[in-house]
Amino acid sequence: MTTLHETPIKENIFVWTLGGDTIQTSYGTNCTGIIGTDAVLLVDPLIAPAHARLVDEAVKDKSDAPVRFVVLTHHHTDHALGSSHFAEQDAIVIAHRACREAMATEHPHLIAERRQQPDLRDLFADAEHMLPAVTFDEGVVLHVGGIEVEVWHPGWGHTPGDAFLFVPESGVTVCGDLVFSGYHFNYEQASIAGARKGLQALASLDAETFVPGHGETGGAEILDAQQQYHDTVQEIVSAGLSADKDDAAIAEEIRARFPDYRLSVVIPSAVAKMKAHLAKPAAPAPRPQHS
Ligand SMILES: [Zn+2]
Repeated sequence: MTTLHETPIKENIFVWTLGGDTIQTSYGTNCTGIIGTDAVLLVDPLIAPAHARLVDEAVKDKSDAPVRFVVLTHHHTDHALGSSHFAEQDAIVIAHRACREAMATEHPHLIAERRQQPDLRDLFADAEHMLPAVTFDEGVVLHVGGIEVEVWHPGWGHTPGDAFLFVPESGVTVCGDLVFSGYHFNYEQASIAGARKGLQALASLDAETFVPGHGETGGAEILDAQQQYHDTVQEIVSAGLSADKDDAAIAEEIRARFPDYRLSVVIPSAVAKMKAHLAKPAAPAPRPQHS
């Protein structure tokens, strides 16, 4: 069985991950726990109830308080499908409206597909399709046993229903997949311009600590690294197109530029999305108002 790794961020904030970059370890997604006096908030409780139960055990080691809130930073299953385990115990699952909509359209068939695959059948045997009970459009503030937690939607960045969390009293931000640290960025459903704007929103917070969706927690330098990653991928794809390279060759260049990065399975999404982004005509210059 896989082992849950724990990183203490503050005395009442912890990050748990199964590491790695395969579906059997939730693709290395980070689950964050904010432990209040009489309530616990979890962010992104991994890909399946089996993994969520490991988080549940880790929470119970810290506190007798119930998991009252689960916030999803977006709908991707590695962040969302563990929620049913906590919803069954009366936790309120909260997400952006577009996150809930994407869960409704994508999750039932993803669960069904995985149950048909011999190597995934066991992991998803008790995965339940569930939908958040509470949605928001712009943001919401949660009060978690004395800890104030802000939840914000920065617009369509990594996915249409992105959210990040900010804990003002401890200067901790939970970024979701606006930030991958040491992992390739999954551009599959991203807006390139929005992903950059999302980084600006994170950088504008009065925060010292940033928990990425995948990879090691750090300071503002992990936001800079993500920005540089977007720039580098854009340069490689742009140069590749000018030189008439095919997608496989361009993907290989991205891989070679970040040799230690995990999750190389998503590199083709970078090539496809960046090509579409570069093909878009530039926005027309604003018309002079008083000519
Ligand atoms: Zn993810």
